[in-house]
Amino acid sequence: MKRRKLVLLAAALLLLGKPEAGALRAFAAEPPVEATMVALENTGAEGSAAAEKEEAAKAKEQYSYMGTFRLTAYCGCRVCNGRWTGHPTALGTDYQEGRTIAVDRRVIPLGSTVEINLPGRGWTRFRAEDTGSAIKGNRIDVYVSEHGRCYTPLYNTHAEVRIVR
Ligand SMILES: [Zn+2]
Repeated sequence: MKRRKLVLLAAALLLLGKPEAGALRAFAAEPPVEATMVALENTGAEGSAAAEKEEAAKAKEQYSYMGTFRLTAYCGCRVCNGRWTGHPTALGTDYQEGRTIAVDRRVIPLGSTVEINLPGRGWTRFRAEDTGSAIKGNRIDVYVSEHGRCYTPLYNTHAEVRIVR
């Protein structure tokens, strides 16, 4: 009601041809409080939604998110490899700690570049080079160069996995 009176007053002043410039400018520059709040809320929501959308698009573009996997570790010893001891990886490569992992090839194709979100270390890059009779489904066996490190907590955990496209 008060606003309406001000608008009428402003219009009246304009019609009269002698507006009080200062008062009119102050009124014009100050939009109704409700409208201001709505505008601010919209800006905030649209801003973060756009950023999220962009991030999602970026993630979609570069990675295939595979979900959470159970990790274990293995080395080249007979305990870990049984009759396959001394053979190259399923992909035919040498074993290299920090690169070689064993996967279920029906879940992660051999040769894939794979990133594992290791606890305390973040997304770390490996390559799906090997398979294993016990490595089925959401399982990854991480190669280490010494049998003693097969039990490192870093590789005996659950972690998120994504394939780099
Ligand atoms: Zn071993």
